Amino acid sequence: MIAVRKPAELEKMRKANKVVGDALRMIEQYVRPGVTTMELNAILEEFIVAAGAKPSFKNYHGFPAASCMSIDEVVVHGIPSLRVLKEGEILSVDVGAIVEGYHGDAARTFPVGKISAEKQRLIDVTRESFFEGIKEVRAGRRLGDLSHAIQAYVEAHGYSVVREMTGHGIGRNMHEDPSIPNYGAAGSGPLLKAGYCLAIEPMVNMGKYHIEIDSLDGWTCRARDGQPSAHYENTVIVTDGDAEILTL
Ligand code: MG
Repeated sequence: MIAVRKPAELEKMRKANKVVGDALRMIEQYVRPGVTTMELNAILEEFIVAAGAKPSFKNYHGFPAASCMSIDEVVVHGIPSLRVLKEGEILSVDVGAIVEGYHGDAARTFPVGKISAEKQRLIDVTRESFFEGIKEVRAGRRLGDLSHAIQAYVEAHGYSVVREMTGHGIGRNMHEDPSIPNYGAAGSGPLLKAGYCLAIEPMVNMGKYHIEIDSLDGWTCRARDGQPSAHYENTVIVTDGDAEILTL
């Protein structure tokens, strides 16, 4: 069942997602060669708590940190560590927060120092694919219209969309119905209704779409071919007109 949120609930969604959007804007300045992902995670956690919110990733199914830090070929769910960021890498930062029982969720991929033109293009196309998709998000359209728009844009640029990981409904829980694949057929899937809250998150691989989960930590999700991957996510509210993006 996909929840239609009442106006009072949407107000709380806006608050939680503002914390997340602000946190990602804040952390960008700290992403540079020489910093560890654990330091970045600590700065994010402190920011979220100071904003009166609760970091939702921490202890989620046992996840050990307030954010996911995914370097280069890591698609998503990288665990913050003492690993030092190096010039030329790309870092995907995914973060969530809870305010008054409602969840915010968003992600960005940042360059570490100076990066190659190829990696910058991957980051740009991933972000742009979200905005291609969002054009389809309004009451009366189908979820597959969104999925198809993202896939078509990504593949037209020679990249691939991850299959096993998807976006999701969001609200009183971080992950709710529906599951939002970044691939699919236009005109398929559930009808979108005003008041749906969706976390839309293209995960784009420079190479093939296959992924694998690290067997040691059970979290880290990598592109199987070892090529770079980028991530871009915002939480949005479906309306009768343009979607309201809460994390920008
Ligand atoms: Mg998400």
